[in-house]
Amino acid sequence: MWGVHYAALASGSKGNCHALSDGERTLLVDAGISLRQIHRRLEAVGWQGGSIQALALTHEHSDHIAALGVILRRTDWTILATPETRQAAERAKGIEIPAVRWLPLEAGRPVTWEGWRVLPFALPHDAADPVAFRVEVGPLACAIVTDLGHPTALVADHLQDLDLLVLEANHDVDMLREGAYPPHLKARILSRVGHLSNASMAALLGRVYSPRLKRLVLAHLSEANNDPGLARFAAEEVLRGTSVALHVAQQHIPLLLPLASV
Ligand SMILES: [Zn+2]
Ligand SMILES: [Zn+2]
Repeated sequence: MWGVHYAALASGSKGNCHALSDGERTLLVDAGISLRQIHRRLEAVGWQGGSIQALALTHEHSDHIAALGVILRRTDWTILATPETRQAAERAKGIEIPAVRWLPLEAGRPVTWEGWRVLPFALPHDAADPVAFRVEVGPLACAIVTDLGHPTALVADHLQDLDLLVLEANHDVDMLREGAYPPHLKARILSRVGHLSNASMAALLGRVYSPRLKRLVLAHLSEANNDPGLARFAAEEVLRGTSVALHVAQQHIPLLLPLASV
């Protein structure tokens, strides 16, 4: 059997999409690239995780829901979202998520999906009701955490005892400050409800590292305001002396990681 796998299909300001499978079924987290690209990239990494059955939405920004309209028309996937994110996504896309396709979420309350435990939790980000996900598949615990302005205690609480952590490392503060972005955009990204810097990522990682952690994937890197080497370096400082495997998710090249062979 293929076992539990994770794939970063796309990560960055031009689109985000993550896939998780137990070898029989696949859950996507966000769909910020086209449905065609989702299928192409799964094929490119040799995905054998069974058919996609559901899509969990973190929030309604376009780099997370771009394919939602097509997905509603062309697939029968269940959509996991909080009521506020459902409504904001419907408004942003001019679409309707039918009640029969919708599995309602509430931050802080775990739901059971196909035997998995899916726990959405609140993030500080400038969207209607942004969440991140902790997903437990059998004995494995994973979390996908991007689009947060700063690392809160609540976020840290949800990242204890993980096997896999996918964590935002959006920007290097100096690169952003000195870069070409207009002042209002710099202010938005740097704000308490913007995006996580390399330094804040490292601080959060230091709070949640446990010997159980096997893989760290740095995600949602800004192409303009970060350098993968800088993000890696910030994480390596925290992980020195540990056996954690460090990866960087990319915008255009998918990444496949085995979590366990069953
Ligand atoms: Zn985003
Ligand atoms: Zn966002």
